[in-house]
Amino acid sequence: MRILRINTRTRTFAFESASPLGGLGGRALTARIIATEVVPDSHPLSAANRLVLAAGILSGTSAASSGRISVGAKSPLTGGMKESNAGGQFARHMARLGLRAIIIEDKPESPAAPCILHISAHSVEFRDAAELSGLRSYAAQERLCALYGPHAVSALIGPAGEQCLKAATIQFSDSDGLPSRAAGCGGMGAVMGSKGIKAIVLNDDGDEHAPVADPEAFRAARREWAGILHDQPAPDAASPSFGTAALADLLGLSNHEEPRHRIEPFEGASRICGETLAEAIDAHGASTRRGCHSGCVIQCSRIFTDANGAFVTSGHPHETIWRFGADLLIGDLDIVARMDRACDELGLDSLEMARTLAIAMEAGLIMWGDGPAALRMLLRVDADEQLGRMLGNGAAFAAAAFGVTRLPSLDTLRIAKGDPRAAKKRERIHPAAGPASTDTTVASIASDDTLGHDPHIATAAADSLGLCIFVAFAVMRDPRGLPCMARMLTALTGSEWTEERLKALGADCLSDERNFNERAGADAGAATDAHHHSVATDGTPWRKNQ
Ligand code: SF4
Repeated sequence: MRILRINTRTRTFAFESASPLGGLGGRALTARIIATEVVPDSHPLSAANRLVLAAGILSGTSAASSGRISVGAKSPLTGGMKESNAGGQFARHMARLGLRAIIIEDKPESPAAPCILHISAHSVEFRDAAELSGLRSYAAQERLCALYGPHAVSALIGPAGEQCLKAATIQFSDSDGLPSRAAGCGGMGAVMGSKGIKAIVLNDDGDEHAPVADPEAFRAARREWAGILHDQPAPDAASPSFGTAALADLLGLSNHEEPRHRIEPFEGASRICGETLAEAIDAHGASTRRGCHSGCVIQCSRIFTDANGAFVTSGHPHETIWRFGADLLIGDLDIVARMDRACDELGLDSLEMARTLAIAMEAGLIMWGDGPAALRMLLRVDADEQLGRMLGNGAAFAAAAFGVTRLPSLDTLRIAKGDPRAAKKRERIHPAAGPASTDTTVASIASDDTLGHDPHIATAAADSLGLCIFVAFAVMRDPRGLPCMARMLTALTGSEWTEERLKALGADCLSDERNFNERAGADAGAATDAHHHSVATDGTPWRKNQ
């Protein structure tokens, strides 16, 4: 496996051996590269920052649900190291090109039209992309398909990334060719925009297959692995029929036990829950049970269409539905889906933008529950105007601008599932990881000491292997999970993997993140309890003006 290093100022590139990085992959690899190559107190949008895209150790193999991509950088949103994890076809195609990671460094000396990086097995083409400048994601992907073929596998930014806004995402094309999979958290799109890159396209000339040390043992282990994932009951794992929205009803209706957080459940929860979503999808003739990348056996994704069967959006997860829905009091799946699509089009993190719109509602700019007004406000980010820029820089920025003091964020990053109505312990944050952990990649699974494993270490390890977060449930709850993962890795790499080595992979990754964040000045200790940010200092619920 190789590392591809691209300099965006000199427009040069080099292929390097990945061996010095000790066989790391995914999140562990992005963390190690950022920790060793980025000066912790450098500006996230400066030439000193790196943007790292890393495939997992299992990416490119036939192991189920192993095609996730990790994107890492010093985050413009938090000021600390951030890894953002996405689906799509990118990681598998990187593996076919023999690439474990792509490191994008430096930045153009003067602002210029953005460019496209077209990566082949042995070369990189820098192509000026003036015609793509300012394009929304779906239109940009269409142009890329016209330039590079109908199945172009891409990572691209929307208008938010081009403006270097802190909530900007990188959008990855999925197995349907749609740019619907977002590396959403931490402003990775702003870092890509700062380096003058509109899109990265992987050529399809790659024909490398991950070398497997013991093919027969690997086949047996990955068959068992697929069986373990199949056996996980919904909603503990993502539900193929309802999608992860199966959780929206459960969490939207539950009360938290802590009195100062108690607010009434959202009465419209049943209008946005997984069952209602599945019924709407059935009635509209769309489809559930889709994978965000080929090779996923859980398949929690789906296409959402309107009542006339016209495509609206793809793969909006439960977090997006309950953040735009229950948190903003919008009990309308169609509007919620259009807001998700708007985020994909503009290249914005839907969770950060839901928090930001809540700030706008708290400030009285729009009414709680007014879906059409919320959608119109979201689309103002596209206009490159002052209000749009305030919103596109996220909830903390908007709160400062609008004078809102109750801010559901940890430092400057929105809490992924900070809903005080949610299940007990749901938002406990690992003190070791600091701001990097406030994402679905780590912090938002139920934390239960009876599981016998640290969920943060388990998910950091899964992220490093290229596995979806939903396999973490299998790893933590099924005694066959960890031993099976270890057998797969031993058969793949030819070196001995044990449960202890897997845990060390996750723990070392968290350690790299923590050490960098401490050197960058982040207060890791403040991350031990995120809930205090969701209430005012007098203990009142943060949403009081509904
Ligand atoms: S379970 Fe869902 S999010 Fe995870 S890899 Fe499969 S489709 Fe993607």
